[in-house]
Amino acid sequence: MQFQDFPTHALMNITARPAAVFTHGEGSWLWDHTGKRYLDFVQGWAVNALGHSPPCIIEALADQAPRLITPSPAFYNETSLALAEQLTRNSCLDQVFFANSGAEANEGAIKLARKWGRVRKGGAYEIITFINSFHGRTLATMSASGKPGWDTMFAPQVPGFPKAVLNDADSVAALITDKTVAIMLEPVQGEGGVNAATPEFMRTLRELADHHGLLLICDEVQTGMGRLGTLFGYQQFGVEPDIMTLGKGIGGGVPLAALLAKEDACVFEHGDQGGTYNGNPLMAAVGLAVLGEMLKPDFLPSVQAAGEYLSQKLTALSAAHGLGAERGLGLLRALELGAERGAAIVTHARDALAGAPGWENAGLLLNSPRPSLLRFMPALTVTHGEIDRMIDGLDQTLRAT
Ligand SMILES: *Cc1c(COP(=O)(O)O)cnc(C)c1O
Repeated sequence: MQFQDFPTHALMNITARPAAVFTHGEGSWLWDHTGKRYLDFVQGWAVNALGHSPPCIIEALADQAPRLITPSPAFYNETSLALAEQLTRNSCLDQVFFANSGAEANEGAIKLARKWGRVRKGGAYEIITFINSFHGRTLATMSASGKPGWDTMFAPQVPGFPKAVLNDADSVAALITDKTVAIMLEPVQGEGGVNAATPEFMRTLRELADHHGLLLICDEVQTGMGRLGTLFGYQQFGVEPDIMTLGKGIGGGVPLAALLAKEDACVFEHGDQGGTYNGNPLMAAVGLAVLGEMLKPDFLPSVQAAGEYLSQKLTALSAAHGLGAERGLGLLRALELGAERGAAIVTHARDALAGAPGWENAGLLLNSPRPSLLRFMPALTVTHGEIDRMIDGLDQTLRAT
């Protein structure tokens, strides 16, 4: 089938999509309708933690689907109970509410913090968030996000999200009033360009929260589930959040997200929170399979090793091409290009690399969240050989663009 024969007109045109229809994937590779294959360092925006269609997810779906798909979110099911138990046992949080997307989990975190402010803190409701942060695309999470323009894009939006500057503790302290109930951040800003909080800054936020009686909320939709080389991102910083959200990698590619909180913050009462598909056993079975892989003793050390290898290779490539700094934690990394070349590099690597030595009928999928920056978020199972291959494709692309 030719690209123009697909009914692309039937989809809302919400973003510029390339003229390819993806048909199947395996591990770090993705194929389109022409049979061309792509080495995938985007992985559904850091979603496919175990790569495309890993056997453990196929098996989990095939095993769970014939047994029970959705009883009702108002009934218990053993699969979501098991996943909640494993998430709490392996984190500093005590209870879980399952959701279907990162934005929905964050929306739940915002509601939980506001409820906590009502019952514990005299009606305090403001949540301090950060410039360049990204928390999702619902109205409240867009308002919480620090993307330029997002506070007015669908005005009137949700008030109560004053913005501080990442790694500037004074800018946070200056916003704290008797209306403040929480501080919310991504331990490493993902969409904002892989900007990590420093351990000192995270410790100061914990101290500010303790001193003023505030909740510390970590949005770990991107940094959680092994991405930084630890099961959760907060474990890199020596502080514990009161509330944590998970998404993306927790489902390994299926819609699954979670809101977790310490016991003291679990203040929802009946009727406060819910959702039709939340905690459905089909998605929870996948979550259990993904977590099971990540808890194998070799998994997180291999993510750390792959992250270090990718970092070294990017640093060398940057030196060879006179580019800027490489940064990140684990397998969430970025490379400063020193010029606004991101879009041209992404397009060339995807469409024009084919035919270059070693890239017969193949391309490379990269992401440029800002014009002068590339972000790398391969499968956590990426091999050194695949990293070498990506570096080769990027090297050839840099020469050609
Ligand atoms: C992707 C992302 C979200 C939104 O998740 P969706 O599943 O797209 O709603 C929220 N926070 C962070 C940090 C993210 O990276």
